Amino acid sequence: MNIKVNVESIKENLGTNLKQEFDVFLEDMLIQGREISFENPAKFDVTIINSSEEYIVMAHVKLRAILPCSRCLEEFSMTLEFDFNFELSKDEVVDDEISVGEGLLKELRLAFPMQAVCDEQCKGLCPSCGKNLNQEDCDCFMHKVDPRLAKLQKLLKEDE
Ligand SMILES: [Zn+2]
Ligand SMILES: [Zn+2]
Repeated sequence: MNIKVNVESIKENLGTNLKQEFDVFLEDMLIQGREISFENPAKFDVTIINSSEEYIVMAHVKLRAILPCSRCLEEFSMTLEFDFNFELSKDEVVDDEISVGEGLLKELRLAFPMQAVCDEQCKGLCPSCGKNLNQEDCDCFMHKVDPRLAKLQKLLKEDE
């Protein structure tokens, strides 16, 4: 992703910083095997500080993602917000431009939770018939209980 910040305005003054905000359009992507899409644009704020030997880049990202629930597989949307920082040696800066887009994409992948549910109360899919238990009940779970599970359920009941 080609997003660059021009640091010409701060390069002569140590300790000064520069802030820039971007509206970023993210394309659908596959993260941890899940198809993810986005409610664009994402908000991308970048602050760059002119430090002694390097530039310090501090970025903040806020976006809304649309992804399948880990339990029921229905799509839902969630807000994801994260920060990332890096330093770049001044020797590596070409034409006063610092590229920040690759970092955004890399960190975005890391920032996604392994498990994301549409609702804490989501009942998920029936492991036997595959019905979405948020939408309808099925009989199979209670009627075809594994004998080991039945024993466990009995124990849990006695515990109550
Ligand atoms: Zn769900
Ligand atoms: Zn079922």
